[in-house]
Amino acid sequence: MRLDKFICKHTDLSHRDSRWAVAAGRVTVADSLITDPRAEIDRFVRVTLDGRVLQECQAHYIMLHKPAGYLSATSDPEHPTVMELMPDLLREQLHIGGRLDRASTGLLILTNDGLWSRRLTEPGKKLPKVYRVTTAEPIAADAEQRFAEGFYFATEDLTTTPAQLERLGEREARVTIYEGRYHQIKRMFARVGNRVVELHREKMGLIELDLALTPGEFRALTEAEVASV
Ligand code: URA
Repeated sequence: MRLDKFICKHTDLSHRDSRWAVAAGRVTVADSLITDPRAEIDRFVRVTLDGRVLQECQAHYIMLHKPAGYLSATSDPEHPTVMELMPDLLREQLHIGGRLDRASTGLLILTNDGLWSRRLTEPGKKLPKVYRVTTAEPIAADAEQRFAEGFYFATEDLTTTPAQLERLGEREARVTIYEGRYHQIKRMFARVGNRVVELHREKMGLIELDLALTPGEFRALTEAEVASV
C-alpha cells in the first residue's frame, strides 16, 4: 500500500494532510525517515507518525476467552468491548477474526494480519466453527436433520451449508457450522422453534479454546495454530 494512503487509513488525517505529514518528515518506516508519500510499504513494517506507532513490525495472533457482556467491536459508547481486554500497545492494531454476539462467550481470535484473518472467516473456506449451545426449550426431534439440510435465509438469499448438531442433553447441543452468517446459530434454532440462551464457541478450524484461560484472559496463538489456518 502507498504510504500516504496508509497514513490516511490509520489516522484521522485527510488524504491531503497525510501526504503533507509524510513530506514534512513526520513519518518513519522501519525506523527510517521517509518523505516520499508514494513509497510502497509492506505488511508488518513498523510505521510511526510523530513518534506514535501506527503499525508494528510484528504479526500478532491472539486467542481470547471472551466473557459475556463484551461487544466484538473496536469501540462503543454504551458497552465494554473486547478491545478493552487487550494490552494498550496492541489495541489500536488488532481486529477481530469472526465476531461473537455480546452475550456469547468462548473463543475469539484477534490479529493484525488481515490476510490471515480473511482465511479464517471467508465462508468459501468452509472452516468448521464449533459452538456449545443451551436452549430455552427442549431441542426438536428433527433438529439434526433440519440443521443438516440447511436453512434458507431470505435476507442473504442463501441456504446455509449443512451443519451438524450433536445432542448433549434435552436443552444442550454441540453445533458445527461452516460459515459465520449474522446471528447464524440463533437464527437456525429459531427455525426449529427454539431460542438460544447460552452460546459458547469452542473451536475455529483446528484452533481450540485453551481451557486454561478463564473469561477475559488471552494468550498468543502457537506457531502450529497460526499455520493451521
Ligand atoms: N451465531 C450466533 O447467533 N451468535 C454468535 O455469537 C455466533 C454465532
